[in-house]
Amino acid sequence: MDYKPYIRIIENFPKEGIRFKDITTLLKDGNTYKQAIDEIAEYAKQMQIDIIAGPEARGFVIGAPLAYSLGKGFAPVRKEGKLPSEVISADYDLEYGKDRLSMHKDAIQPGQRVLIADDLLATGGTISTTIKLVEELGGVIVGAAFLIELTYLNGRDKMKGIDVFSLVKY
Ligand code: 5GP
Repeated sequence: MDYKPYIRIIENFPKEGIRFKDITTLLKDGNTYKQAIDEIAEYAKQMQIDIIAGPEARGFVIGAPLAYSLGKGFAPVRKEGKLPSEVISADYDLEYGKDRLSMHKDAIQPGQRVLIADDLLATGGTISTTIKLVEELGGVIVGAAFLIELTYLNGRDKMKGIDVFSLVKY
């Protein structure tokens, strides 16, 4: 299926020069949203996965329904200060800014096989940081799945040795 007609491009958001891929136009169409999650789930079914980890907020929109569909758990990766129990944290650079991500120390058990999910792979900064946190907890990364990949930003290069899947490429 061609998902591009459902993705709205917003020029100069959140700052000058960025062509933001707005997925809200896809999400509000129930059939298309379901089809996208089902397609990502088909990819994920081929792998042995124990749990899915996804960064807030749009990573939840992809990761949580994927976890539900596969009958697996979901580990939220959050901005600093949001998680209530003991956390580990790491700093990262965004395509348009800087931030810090955290995970609960008990979110992943050592040796668990983890699939990372997010809406979009740009420079790979968010996902590299998520991978770092998961690995620090002893998780084994089995793959990373995205709705969208901005191939011209070469985010994949930051994930050498990790299987990367994306449904829509720009
Ligand atoms: P990266 O860390 O790979 O440079 O950027 C990816 C992260 O930033 C993702 O978590 C994603 O939600 C957000 N992001 C960056 N650019 C866009 C965009 O054009 N559209 C959407 N929906 N998210 C973006």
